[in-house]
Amino acid sequence: MSTYAIVIHGGAGTILPAAMTNELERSYKTALQEAMDAGFSCLSAGGTSVEAVKAAVISLEDCILFNAGRGAVFAKDGSQEMDASIMDGSNRMAGAIAAVRNIRNPVELAYTVMTHSQHVMLNGKGAQEFAKIHGLKTEPDEYFYSAFRHQQWKQMQDTDETALDHSVTIPSSTATEGKKFGTVGAVAVDQYGNIAAATSTGGMTNKQWGRVGDSPIIGAGTYANNKTCAISCTGHGEPFIRAVTAYDVSCLMEYKGLSLQEAMHLVVHDKLLKIDGEGGMIGVDASGNTAMVFNSEGMYRGRRNSEGLNETLIYKL
Ligand code: ASP
Repeated sequence: MSTYAIVIHGGAGTILPAAMTNELERSYKTALQEAMDAGFSCLSAGGTSVEAVKAAVISLEDCILFNAGRGAVFAKDGSQEMDASIMDGSNRMAGAIAAVRNIRNPVELAYTVMTHSQHVMLNGKGAQEFAKIHGLKTEPDEYFYSAFRHQQWKQMQDTDETALDHSVTIPSSTATEGKKFGTVGAVAVDQYGNIAAATSTGGMTNKQWGRVGDSPIIGAGTYANNKTCAISCTGHGEPFIRAVTAYDVSCLMEYKGLSLQEAMHLVVHDKLLKIDGEGGMIGVDASGNTAMVFNSEGMYRGRRNSEGLNETLIYKL
């Protein structure tokens, strides 16, 4: 049996201890631990890495603290549109959805695209119709609403600015209401040595409706290949798309022989920074190595493996 492991993230950005209360920090860590445990139990029970990353991401989508599923950010027109993707490194099958509304668990829809269609990516109305045909759970607008994110959007609504959810400064008086940051993602390696990745997001605050970020784009925000690595990214989507970020890590491993950690470090601290790409990523390889790398102030993250490693972290070490 190979070492099995799961790594998760809840978004990267300007996350500083000074802007955080102990209570809030505890809430984030509890939510991260719960999501990680959901994925890890799958792996311990002999489940696949695909099942594990899906379970972890669903748990994070259901938590209002993160910018994915419930608690997604608002677009310029006040809508909440979500993107998600999943990839199986054992056969390089993938599924993705973009700009969907009212779907409770976007990662479940991405998974259904992978398993029940001939396509890799569906968007907008077509994706909604596909969700309906396959009986995916939907929720009314109120389910996704959070007062804090609404206020974040209101502050930017009349500008042409967009913002990384995690990088909006919040006065500490409103922090108790919840500093709700973060696109979410998970990568895992299972007992059979197969790896997978999944990512889910509400995108950037005040984005143009219809805007698609890196999260649902295979090779940019998400990638998995048993030969190299499984990667899930978070950060300012546009540079991540232009850098073909997740696939670049895989290429550096495959063609240059870099380790997972070396490849992720080069992409995050060199290649992305050169094009103002703020954010980070999590990764795993088929031997059970894991890595969490970011160039922002912090990244909500955690990892657990069959050798006893079990940690949740927020700030730079
Ligand atoms: N990468 C996401 C996007 O650009 C945002 C994030 O990671 O928070 O849509």
